[in-house]
Amino acid sequence: MFTLSQFPLPYAYGALAPYMSPETLELHHGKHLATYIKNLNDLIENTPYESVELYEIIKSSAADKQNPNAQKIYNNAAQIFNHDFFFKGMCNDCNGQIPSEIANAFGSADEFKKQFKNAATSLFGSGYTWLVRDGEDLKIINMQNADTPIAYNMVPLLNLDVWEHAYYVDYQNRRADFIDNYLEHLVDWGQVAENLKQ
Ligand code: MN
Repeated sequence: MFTLSQFPLPYAYGALAPYMSPETLELHHGKHLATYIKNLNDLIENTPYESVELYEIIKSSAADKQNPNAQKIYNNAAQIFNHDFFFKGMCNDCNGQIPSEIANAFGSADEFKKQFKNAATSLFGSGYTWLVRDGEDLKIINMQNADTPIAYNMVPLLNLDVWEHAYYVDYQNRRADFIDNYLEHLVDWGQVAENLKQ
């Protein structure tokens, strides 16, 4: 059994305003994430997944061809991980320095932001734009829907949720403005630097 209290926001609902409103965070954390948790609990009840760590549920369900519910289990488990990672990767205008390893990998901090924005803007439909370490390389990748890099042995460093529920209350159809504010004001680069040590 997973509970929302295992995945707390590290700040108050109002902490990311005006770039992300309390209404958005309350819906996104208190309703969307809570629903993925409830769905996963319902799906894994009385199955071998019931007493397994979230990370292992994601890895196992991604490879599970026997269980007809495996895709649903994967989607909901991955969404719990993806959201917790997203929420814990933000703060309000703190830690503004992009780690030099990232700037160097992409040419400059501005070039990284440009490439990340291009990817996030071009993601068709629902999903996430990720910065990952894949082997030795840092890569910006788009993944559709709930898909998550930890299922592919990539190390997640940063993710931006571009499902409409992540921004529609605050930005309506203006996804590009959401991405700009995210990159300029919301990324916790100190957390990204910690993730780079993994
Ligand atoms: Mn979301």
